Amino acid sequence: MKTIFSGIQPSGIMTLGNYLGAMKHFVPLQDQFNCFYCIVDQHAITVPQEPAVLRENIRRLAALYLSVGLDPNKMTLFVQSEVPAHAKLGWIMLCTSYLGELERMTQFKDKSDGRGESIPGGLLAYPPLMAADILLYSTDFVPVGEDQKQHLELTRDLAARFNNRYGDIFTIPEVRLPETGARIMSLAEGTKKMSKSDPNQGAFISMLDDADTITKKIKRAQTDSDSVVRYDKAEKPAVSNLMTIYSLCSGKTLDEIEAMYEGKGYGAFKTELAEVVVETLRPIQERFEQLFHSSELDDILTAGAEKANKVANEMLYKVEKAMGMARI
Ligand code: ATP
Ligand code: MG
Repeated sequence: MKTIFSGIQPSGIMTLGNYLGAMKHFVPLQDQFNCFYCIVDQHAITVPQEPAVLRENIRRLAALYLSVGLDPNKMTLFVQSEVPAHAKLGWIMLCTSYLGELERMTQFKDKSDGRGESIPGGLLAYPPLMAADILLYSTDFVPVGEDQKQHLELTRDLAARFNNRYGDIFTIPEVRLPETGARIMSLAEGTKKMSKSDPNQGAFISMLDDADTITKKIKRAQTDSDSVVRYDKAEKPAVSNLMTIYSLCSGKTLDEIEAMYEGKGYGAFKTELAEVVVETLRPIQERFEQLFHSSELDDILTAGAEKANKVANEMLYKVEKAMGMARI
């Protein structure tokens, strides 16, 4: 069986973008691959986090992974900081990187924008840590949204660079983009990615938003001035994004949606979009309520960390040995 690794940051509450672009696609994969799903808390602290909030978000994310249908008997779910090999290989990958290639990462540029002298060093070191996450498990495929493609290219470069120098140790991973909905945009700005760490709450729908909140956020979502429900990413990015969400949540094609709302304007479209989104999230939220406070959740994470530690430590030992660090 080929191996899959994917990580999500507990940097906020999962958004509909995270769900449609990443998490939803994880479910069928667990039957075909050896899957490692990781709550990457060490990535989340590359920007400041409030301790109580971070703790809650880690638990929320764990419960959400399971609520969408991931089965602990089929895949491994764990928290990154509970597997110390990530930080150790992350350092080695940082030492394998060049400053120039790290500074070229668009996420580094976006997230450090406007911070002047106080850009957290972790933002720059983030992609090498992500490379370590992936390489520890001899990952074949990484199912991520389009926003992570550049980081994955870097992972491949670092793995090849390391292998060239020390021998064939790492598997070179490939990216697996979902066919549709790889990128859901912000509700406030149709040209910006929807992000769970966006300070504007109205810019995203969280997977745990109640029906009222979802309806309000969609009613206020940006549209265009002509009031025609038509898919045109270049001319009408905001409406096109709402149509994409509609399509992914309902299974209807963009053409069908266009036909349904011909001559009806945005009002009816938005009301029904809200209903479709609420119905998509309802079963997930119901399972979440049962899991969040359960001890079952702790047991699953403990077992997951144990399994991940075993695999990761074996790889770390190989790497350190090749570099001349581990005692033989
Ligand atoms: P942050 O703002 O803290 O970076 P995020 O919303 O970008 O949070 P990540 O934890 O960085 O979420 O990414 C988790 C997964 O969700 C990744 O696979 C990423 O590709 C995917 N993803 C993130 N944002 C979107 C989006 N707007 N549309 C589709 N997929 C997304
Ligand atoms: Mg992100």
